[in-house]
Amino acid sequence: MSNKIIIAIDGYSSCGKSTLAKALAAKLEYVFIDTGAMYRAVALYFLRNKIAFDDSAAIVAALTKITLNFSYNAATLKSDMMLNNENVEAEIREMAVSQKVSEVAAIGEVRDFAVAQQQAMGTQKGIVMDGRDIGTVVFPNAALKIFVTADPAIRVERRFLELRLTNPTISKEEITANLQHRDLLDTTRERSPLRQAADAKLLDNSTMTREEQFALALQWALDKIKEANG
Ligand code: C5P
Repeated sequence: MSNKIIIAIDGYSSCGKSTLAKALAAKLEYVFIDTGAMYRAVALYFLRNKIAFDDSAAIVAALTKITLNFSYNAATLKSDMMLNNENVEAEIREMAVSQKVSEVAAIGEVRDFAVAQQQAMGTQKGIVMDGRDIGTVVFPNAALKIFVTADPAIRVERRFLELRLTNPTISKEEITANLQHRDLLDTTRERSPLRQAADAKLLDNSTMTREEQFALALQWALDKIKEANG
């Protein structure tokens, strides 16, 4: 089993993509890469530095000042997003960033910047990457592509339970509005819109437990790894 593969996981916001990708990577001893965190970190930089989203020159200049890295956090057993060596893992999950990230992720220069780094991370294979365009644009030749989806009301409920831990005043209405806003921008943007790759396996986890979802995806991964080594 020496040949490693690339696993691309795409889907709508708050469908449990990252949870699944993280679990698969841990089991297979692969590297997990959360590409949404990269777009969130760029959005945070733009918000902090008041970069207008329609000012191409300012955007290009700003991107030359941004360095993104992931740093393993032994306490949480996860990688934290580092923006110019600052740990921004908590801040990029706040509503202020969630509200603007899809606008930033629709900017062509931002996508070129992020995709180039994502493709470089895949040269050694052995990665599980989650996002919106991984199977369609970043790694169109990935051995395994999974497109995750779930009932919108279930997505809101899951997100609510998660965000309430750090933000006790958050409402379901606020979360619903944010998810609908991001889904709309992500599916209708000109550059790399969110869509299921023709050869992606559809995984609707509305009625599945995490364990059931994991078992199914793991079996798909093991089959593909076997093929890669056959
Ligand atoms: O995955 P997450 O919800 O954290 O992603 C935040 C936002 O980043 C998404 O709503 C989407 O607009 C953008 N994104 C993207 N392409 C990716 C990953 C995320 O456009 N590959």
